Amino acid sequence: MSKYWSPLAASLVPYVPGEQPKNKKFIKLNTNENPYPPSPKALEAIREAANGDLRLYPDPTCDALIRKIADYYGVRPEQVFVGNGSDEVLAFSFAAFFNPAEPILFPDVTYSFYKVYAEFFGLKAELIPLNERFEVPFEQFERQNGGIVLPNPNAPTAILAPLDAFRGLLARNPDHVVLIDEAYIDFGGESAVKLVHEYPNALVVQTLSKSRSLAGMRVGFAVGSEELIEGLNRVKNSFNSYTLDRPALAAAIASFEDEAYFRQTVERVMLTREAVTDKLRQMGFHAADSGANFVFITHPKVAAKKLLDSLREQGILVRYFNQPRISNHLRVTIGTDEEMDAFIAALQTILAAEG
Ligand code: PMP
Repeated sequence: MSKYWSPLAASLVPYVPGEQPKNKKFIKLNTNENPYPPSPKALEAIREAANGDLRLYPDPTCDALIRKIADYYGVRPEQVFVGNGSDEVLAFSFAAFFNPAEPILFPDVTYSFYKVYAEFFGLKAELIPLNERFEVPFEQFERQNGGIVLPNPNAPTAILAPLDAFRGLLARNPDHVVLIDEAYIDFGGESAVKLVHEYPNALVVQTLSKSRSLAGMRVGFAVGSEELIEGLNRVKNSFNSYTLDRPALAAAIASFEDEAYFRQTVERVMLTREAVTDKLRQMGFHAADSGANFVFITHPKVAAKKLLDSLREQGILVRYFNQPRISNHLRVTIGTDEEMDAFIAALQTILAAEG
């Protein structure tokens, strides 16, 4: 607490990001990054941008990237918004759409940034518990609200919901925005982007951090009706005149131009995920089917905290979850096959020592 802090700063309980170790000695399976590099075309585009006019401001309206995303998803450029990572797109969405007079709804448990943004923007939040299988109970979202936030697949559970569940919710909630956070949708899910043609209240948010390996570049985007995108631009233009820097714009555009690399990388991650899930189940872990680039696991006999600590001693970082609805769990990012072999071998050693 400092006398220099505003009442707002003093009141905040900020989000704590996952650990980003300063040295490379760890196998990093803790923050859902892609283990493979970005497309070589994206890397080349970054080099070109660095050799180009960094002296000049970037395009404040990000036209070329917006056109690229619009073409990719079959929508008009007026239906696309881009931001510095989807975290920023989410923040602008909370500011643009949610009504402080009514509670906004999101699942308990989900991406913990939603709660932080709700507090930052003075919104009431009502958390809807997951069912006993950790699925999102869509019927429970049919209640008075000032907006709804639902990730698909959910995090950290990795569980994917069918698009029809969103159709029903969007249709029965016409006066409020339903924000569908698809940070992990490319790992086997069906995107709700197509629903924006039918539902003016649907906002689909995605990121290039996961399936396109560009977490270090910070690029996210939203697709929705023109009126929603206009709302986001109103907030953005009152906050940050230049959204993405030149290398980020160049990398993002090049990434969308390299579909073959994108497909191949996502496919590799998904194949590894399936193999790892099988092995974990054989070792006695419970793991729901994952629709993301991570698995969410618990072992009936060995405490997740013990696994977390022992893995760390062996140079492997994973994420630990221990809260009322999801106690004693680990969230493990899918790495390369070699990294996952090391992870499984380390687990086998720990489980053997536990008897
Ligand atoms: N949504 C979810 C569900 C996430 O897990 C993350 C990554 N932590 C994000 C959004 C934000 O990703 P980024 O800001 O890198 O686009």
